Amino acid sequence: MQVRILGCSGTIAKGCRTTSFLLGEHVLVDAGTGVGQLTLEEMQRIDHVFLTHSHLDHIAALPLMLDAVGANRRRPLEVHALPQTLAALHAHVFNDVIWPDFTRIPSPAAPFVRLSPLGVGDVFVCAGIPMEVLPARHSVPAVGYAARGAVGWWVYSGDTQGNEPGFWRRVNALHQEGGGVAALLIETAFSNAEADLACKSQHLSPATLMRELAALQGAKPPPVYITHTKPREGRLIMHEVQALDLGALRPVDLQSVQILQV
Ligand SMILES: [Zn+2]
Ligand SMILES: [Zn+2]
Repeated sequence: MQVRILGCSGTIAKGCRTTSFLLGEHVLVDAGTGVGQLTLEEMQRIDHVFLTHSHLDHIAALPLMLDAVGANRRRPLEVHALPQTLAALHAHVFNDVIWPDFTRIPSPAAPFVRLSPLGVGDVFVCAGIPMEVLPARHSVPAVGYAARGAVGWWVYSGDTQGNEPGFWRRVNALHQEGGGVAALLIETAFSNAEADLACKSQHLSPATLMRELAALQGAKPPPVYITHTKPREGRLIMHEVQALDLGALRPVDLQSVQILQV
């Protein structure tokens, strides 16, 4: 499976786009400003969007994408997320004030978008891709996702403050399967100097990332990619991550990656 890294930055600046990953051609995970990288035709081929949580950097392009391609699609775009995330989206974005209520437009029977609730631990196959919803702890209800490719599992933590034993239990279990975890994307939004801010906003910093990665089991750790760094601190965060005593782990800056084959 090809995973295109459309955006993996904590916020915007020239060359920095917020979180969005395209799995194959039909599945999008998070809909940050990275979606603006796609052509109309590529956007039109997306049938499913999985959201980790309701924060703007993960949903910003969803209303605009629907405006761009909704009328050219034959069926509604399915947006999958926790019920709380979908309720927030409906109340605060698709509310006929910030943006039209595309869950009822052009008609309630055939709208541009359908909101489909999911729950932690759900497993299913979407557009031919086996997927699982993973637990995450953040300042709003949040999840991570695992998606199975031909090589192994692609795992994405979403935004998280960590300390989520359930997440690591599943990651370690998936890593025991044939192929194991082929790519683990984990956020590190702040530098160590901003550890207090990271804690308050329930994100990771390099010091807390190290505690998280200590939960990884197995002789051969999976490839780890750092995501969601703030543009003004990106280099510092990666410098601090690379200075950690992580044994065989060598985390890579996801900003330097365009496509993952998993
Ligand atoms: Zn967030
Ligand atoms: Zn975020």
